[in-house]
Amino acid sequence: MPIFLHNTLKRKKELFSPLDPTNVRLYVCGPTVYDFAHIGNARPYVIFDVLGRLLREIYPKVTYVRNITDIDDKIITASRKNGEEISALTQRTTQYFRDDMKSLGNIPPDVEPLATAHVKEMMSMIESLIEKEFAYESEGHVLFAVKNFPHYGQLSHCNHDEMIAGARVEIAPYKRNPEDFILWKPSDEGIPGWESPWGRGRPGWHIECSAMSLKYLGETFDIHGGGQDLIFPHHENELAQSQACFGPQTFARLWLHNGMLTVNGEKMSKSLGNFITMRQLLEKMPGELVRFVLLSSHYRQPLDWNDQTVLQSRQSLDRLYNALRGRILNSETRASESIKSALEDDLNTPFALSALHEIASQLNKTSDESEKNQLASHLKASGAWLGLLQQDPEIWFKGDQGVDEVEILSLINQRNDARANKNFAEADRVRDMLLKMGILLEDSSKGTTWRHV
Ligand code: AMP
Ligand code: ZN
Repeated sequence: MPIFLHNTLKRKKELFSPLDPTNVRLYVCGPTVYDFAHIGNARPYVIFDVLGRLLREIYPKVTYVRNITDIDDKIITASRKNGEEISALTQRTTQYFRDDMKSLGNIPPDVEPLATAHVKEMMSMIESLIEKEFAYESEGHVLFAVKNFPHYGQLSHCNHDEMIAGARVEIAPYKRNPEDFILWKPSDEGIPGWESPWGRGRPGWHIECSAMSLKYLGETFDIHGGGQDLIFPHHENELAQSQACFGPQTFARLWLHNGMLTVNGEKMSKSLGNFITMRQLLEKMPGELVRFVLLSSHYRQPLDWNDQTVLQSRQSLDRLYNALRGRILNSETRASESIKSALEDDLNTPFALSALHEIASQLNKTSDESEKNQLASHLKASGAWLGLLQQDPEIWFKGDQGVDEVEILSLINQRNDARANKNFAEADRVRDMLLKMGILLEDSSKGTTWRHV
């Protein structure tokens, strides 16, 4: 079965046909490293990991590049705030990111380029843009002249006037036009900077990805991915820079964007108090559970993170691991066709998860031991396509944290019911019981959360 993927550029699902079937090339924008990654950041990396797994099953070679953005003004601000050297900060947070990716069961990308190691490549791209008159120098800055690139807006499907009206562009004295964006900017003393033909400075964010994808994947490659928030301006600008250098039809042929993750129905933000880092989450629950939740809705849809979804996902994983428990597995068994066809249809992970449940149901129905073993092998092989069910079931049930998230959440529900019925003695009893288990409850207007004492 061929693969169909939704291309943001064309706004429709299209048949995936790689430029070079002997080497499928995929670029995903990596994290900006200055703090812990949050649960929303984890979504694209799990989704594109599943895409990588699917492509590797079908094609002999996949080159997956995911950069690390270690040059960014957010990094400079964080380093000042923490009183920490920039390189120490970026190395520390890059390591957090890699640890989180491992806990989520993601296969590392084939290349993980650092922006700081590719400034030379960025400069040479900027020089070529100036030469072709797609960019100009002004007061130590180099800007991309949006008006000179007629296809600008092709990815985000907006035109110049709409962009300016939407006030998504910054007006500055060194710009010819407000929509022009930065390729290079000057660095004051004490700020990271590289000597360049335009003085000591640093690259803008967008040119980083154009230069690194060029180096590792070439002028034209197959798939570019990221969250929907990156479509404009980041991806629109990457596309403009690269096509201005190499011509129309170059750069990524297919663009995939995941929907945004919300927490209890709201956009995640520090001020709303609903900001969840991967690190906090992984202290409470296994990475595989987080992964399951992230795959439980279709990647293009929004996904809400809430206790109910976590609980349901926990129950689903328990049911699937229960089917594997005590079974003699044959590692030669192939994955189910229904998993494969679900993923080939624009990465339909909810369908693929229900196909796993279908195998578990068949297994639970039969009393034939060899058929059960056969179905369990089939289940595990199918789970591998999603990066799930690869642990020893006994380890899954023992739980890596020593606390049972489902039990905690159901006790919290019990306490909430008691409080709603004004049975405060019962509510306090449940709270104390949790405290004895080492779990502290915290109530706020957003509901009850828990943490280890
Ligand atoms: P950043 O480090 O902010 O550049 O983000 C890394 C990745 O996370 C990008 O692909 C973003 O599109 C994605 N991302 C950020 N916030 C969310 C969110 N709330 N839901 C889903 N993806 C997100
Ligand atoms: Zn990028």
